[in-house]
Amino acid sequence: MSEVVSLERHDVVAIVTVNSPPVNALSVAVRSGINECVKRAIADSEVKAIVLTCAGRTFIAGADITEFSKPPQPPSLHEVLAEIENSPKPVVAAIHGTALGGGLEVALACHFRVAVKEARLGLPEVKLGLLPGAGGTQRLPRAVGPELAVKMIVGGDPISASDALKNGLIDEIVEGPAAGGEAFARKILAEKRPLRKLRDDDSKLAAARADRSIFTNAVAAMTKKARGLEAPFAAADAVGAAIDLPFDEGLKKEREGFTKLVTGDQSKAQRYAFFAEREAAKISGVPEGTKPRNVERVAIIGAGTMGGGIAMSFANAGIPVTLVETGEEQLKRGMGVMQKNYEATAARGGIPADAPAKRMALINGVVGLEHVKDADLIIEAVFETMAIKKEVFGALDKYAKPGAVLASNTSYLNINEIAKETKRPQDVLGMHFFSPANVMKLCEIVRAEKTAPDVLTTAVAVARRIGKVPAVVGVCDGFVGNRMLAQRGKQAEKLLFEGALPQQVDAVVTKFGMPMGPFAMGDLAGLDIGWRSRKDRGIKSEIADALCEAGRFGQKTGKGYYKYEGGSRAPLPDPEVEKLIDETLQRLGRKRRQVSDEEILERMMYPMINEGARILEEKIAARPGDIDVIWLYGYGWPVYRGGPMFYADQVGLKHIADRLSHYAKETSDPSLEPAPLLKRLAAEGKTFASWARESKAA
Ligand code: NAD
Repeated sequence: MSEVVSLERHDVVAIVTVNSPPVNALSVAVRSGINECVKRAIADSEVKAIVLTCAGRTFIAGADITEFSKPPQPPSLHEVLAEIENSPKPVVAAIHGTALGGGLEVALACHFRVAVKEARLGLPEVKLGLLPGAGGTQRLPRAVGPELAVKMIVGGDPISASDALKNGLIDEIVEGPAAGGEAFARKILAEKRPLRKLRDDDSKLAAARADRSIFTNAVAAMTKKARGLEAPFAAADAVGAAIDLPFDEGLKKEREGFTKLVTGDQSKAQRYAFFAEREAAKISGVPEGTKPRNVERVAIIGAGTMGGGIAMSFANAGIPVTLVETGEEQLKRGMGVMQKNYEATAARGGIPADAPAKRMALINGVVGLEHVKDADLIIEAVFETMAIKKEVFGALDKYAKPGAVLASNTSYLNINEIAKETKRPQDVLGMHFFSPANVMKLCEIVRAEKTAPDVLTTAVAVARRIGKVPAVVGVCDGFVGNRMLAQRGKQAEKLLFEGALPQQVDAVVTKFGMPMGPFAMGDLAGLDIGWRSRKDRGIKSEIADALCEAGRFGQKTGKGYYKYEGGSRAPLPDPEVEKLIDETLQRLGRKRRQVSDEEILERMMYPMINEGARILEEKIAARPGDIDVIWLYGYGWPVYRGGPMFYADQVGLKHIADRLSHYAKETSDPSLEPAPLLKRLAAEGKTFASWARESKAA
């Protein structure tokens, strides 16, 4: 018998149990085990019904993704499903945990499905740039109708057991999976219920066959945010084939769509991103088994833009927070912003109507730092000024209980220096959230010189608990994300001096797939901040200065690099800005030239990649994947391009190094010369990925 799938007979009911930890993924061993056991049960004349269930914490949670890039090994999932579906004896899938992807496809090939009430069922393939390739796009619409099928397949989110029951995806909710499945099998035997093969049941397709808009409207709603992605559209086409074609032809269409996606660049990037995110949660250089400290009470200092957003993130996860301000007025304003924010989300239907009150009740606004005394974790989010940060950490040292983790949300400041203000630098680190903090998933966990290992694991664990994606980085100016972004900003500014317009630069960047270009982003953040800091440091940036001198601070003044009309956030190109740029360049005696889109793209991306190489060499980030995760979750890097370091490998490091050298000369900017690591890898014909593998092995 197979090692991971067992067969047991309880008089007339055969129980096939998959036991392949951790998640019973459909590896070749699991596939052949199921195939073998089902065959035997069918051959056993004593057996009248078959229950397929799983041991451990979940039903089959999906395909074995590691097999995607290898040659396929028999039996294929299709063969296994055919064996199940063609069984003359009823096969019941008994589900607990999650039935995802290939797991749900197995269940869909069974004649009946039951699940425990906590179970979740879904086809998330689209999130890896794929579509369900084992009949899911053909059987699910037949089980639940095309509307919900589109939602589940094109959106990729799972549904609950009760929704599955309501919509015909399962037949019953049971207590325990194995016992419940067995009881259900006995019931259908007693009732002599006919076998239901979804492939032969078109009843739920009739409505959409008569009125195709049911399907097209569902697709339009689900693909609204799918800009640039291939998989959601291919997945929708496959569901469309279920409506338009007989089952077997639909299956063929599904297969074609799957094959195209699985061999394409987008899915490769999305699968890479999936693994990079998992990997990023592993902290290098921390002793194995380092336990995080216990965190029950959290305090946040500062109820401004970031403090408020961070407080909301904790409240959203059901964790109470104490939010500390300097005065009643500041506190009232901060609490008001959060309240409004929640109410707007509730009005949009994003959270239940009673959620704003419930979540606000978890946020205890107070005045005075002494209120942090019970907190296990304190996150500081006050003004970005070293003197103020130092003062706050000095005071925290006085009030915080021993062992409390002290985190700063600083964007740029040196955490080592901040830590020195306390007598417990081992408890200090950075937790750098991104704006808006209640939405953006990234949290850069900044490891300072003296940060204790368990303080790091605590921050990573807490970040994950509130649904963030943590990436551990070292101390440097701007850490990983903002340090790389600064390189892009520098080039964006230079491009204006050479003849490009803000809208041209931004268009290239958004066409690439970023949500916003550097100039629209500047307008959003406010141009006055940089202007003031330049004045303080005695630095000039003539075009940006001229904009600010004309009162153009960005969105908040309705004008910046763009104009904004009627309170809208949509950036509109403004001839005034072009005029202002022309005048500035004339004054400086510079001529505008035609800058190609290709040059813009290269100068936006390659200097960031170059900085990424420096960051790796300095060990500020442990892996290229960590840098990619930071860009995916902190800056909206398009997932189908994997992240800047993955993208660099796709483009080829030699090409990137050559182009950087070219621009270094062309624009007389030695800082654009390829970083030593990039240069070396380019010369050796290597990639960041191969370098990461070699460094891991070393
Ligand atoms: P903000 O000005 O909106 O809020 C700062 C808040 O801190 C104010 O409400 C202020 O009253 C309060 N405060 C000041 N001193 C305090 C003290 N001693 N005790 C209690 N409260 C005090 O600033 P922000 O944008 O929320 O930024 C906060 C921090 O987060 C900064 O370090 C910033 O660099 C960092 N950060 C900002 C962003 C962003 O996009 N805004 C993103 C990431 C990180």
